Amino acid sequence: MTLVDTPATLTGGPALAQERRLVTAIPGPRSQELMARKAAAVASGVGHTLPISVVAAGGGVIVDADGNSLIDLGSGIAVTGVGNSAPRVVEAVTAQLNSFTHTCFTVSPYEGYVAVAEKLNELTPGDHVKRTALFNSGAEAVENAVKIARHFTKKQAVVAFDHAYHGRTNLTMGLTAKNIPYKSGFGPFASEVYRAPLSYPFRDGGLSGAEAAAKAISVIEKQIGAENLAAIIIEPIQGEGGFIVPAQGFLAALVEWAAKNDVVFIADEVQTGFARTGAWFASEHEGIVPDLVVAAKGIAGGLPLSAVTGRADIMDSAMAGGLGGTYGGNPLACAAALATIETYEEDGLLERAREIGAVLIGRLNALRTADPRIGDVRGRGAMVAIELVDPATGAPDAALTNAVAKYAHANGVVVLTCGTYGNVIRFLPPLTISDELLIDGLSVVAEGLKNA
Ligand SMILES: *Cc1c(COP(=O)(O)O)cnc(C)c1O
Repeated sequence: MTLVDTPATLTGGPALAQERRLVTAIPGPRSQELMARKAAAVASGVGHTLPISVVAAGGGVIVDADGNSLIDLGSGIAVTGVGNSAPRVVEAVTAQLNSFTHTCFTVSPYEGYVAVAEKLNELTPGDHVKRTALFNSGAEAVENAVKIARHFTKKQAVVAFDHAYHGRTNLTMGLTAKNIPYKSGFGPFASEVYRAPLSYPFRDGGLSGAEAAAKAISVIEKQIGAENLAAIIIEPIQGEGGFIVPAQGFLAALVEWAAKNDVVFIADEVQTGFARTGAWFASEHEGIVPDLVVAAKGIAGGLPLSAVTGRADIMDSAMAGGLGGTYGGNPLACAAALATIETYEEDGLLERAREIGAVLIGRLNALRTADPRIGDVRGRGAMVAIELVDPATGAPDAALTNAVAKYAHANGVVVLTCGTYGNVIRFLPPLTISDELLIDGLSVVAEGLKNA
């Protein structure tokens, strides 16, 4: 591959000029053209954060059809940790593309799938015997984790938490907490899904991890009963719910309770996994070993792949044919995953995630000292957010959040918002971003706050 020799404006990947460059207003004329076609052809329910037409992306930038180069602080929602069109990924997928594109692993298997399973068994927390099954999307993997837990325990109830996000399919909508836009009008939802309170240090009056866990466990015992409960599913850091880092010890207490009560503990690491937080999986920061780990987003450099990895006795419970699908573990996605994992390892990207985290936390805390509308700065590694509030009351300020995000978008910075109350700005840069771009992006967000 000779990516570095290709004209920078015609290809993605690291060859792209790493700069914020606005040559038109956002959206420019070509992007506006695409937006008009989108409105006429694509279902309205499929929204967009920025009204642009992407033609290339790589390193820490996204280039649109009008020639604008935007700083990427979203990674396509925590997916392109290795950057867009990462060289090893391009090379591995191209080679795979030239040998075969699909056979269906459950019809005629191939090595890539098995190699990804071996890697996941090695990289997920715990040194017990593990098995892996591959799927296409995060939601599909979450559904399968619940299927597996139910089959293994011969129980049916599942507990999810306040502020949870687990996907948009029927079961995962039911597990997701937030009504609009994820659930309203889309019911009925799957039965035997229950909700427990979360540890949310900024908003729960500073309960310790143990106190918050005791509260959750009491709800579970009083309202469901361990004898009916197949699984607890939780994100180690709530993603869409607002980058909520639970108090130390909260997750460990839940894991301990689950183990004592024959309840499968499922960590949904779809957003927190794959180097994002400076560890392979965020569970490691809490010293917990989940029974099952769900992975997706950052796993394959942008190709669709997801996985459930966990205890062999649980994973092997389902009968042959009970798990799988036409495309799960597609050969191109597996080739991409192996190259992605190699890139995280060889390029020191776990360490880079921690460095990015230090820059983000340092700069955002400095902003917070001068601006009481930033109520909280939190996160781990390259998964950091600010929660914006009315300084007088602490009430969530979604209008300010939207104004700051809009300002950033108009000035060439891709930032995403999140949170149950819509008042959180989250930072999820590719781990290949330069400090220079990152700092420039943050300065635009700071300007947006000043202007709002
Ligand atoms: C994005 C996400 C999902 C859903 O993944 P899809 O690939 O969009 O189906 C599930 N859980 C978490 C924590 C996520 O962030």
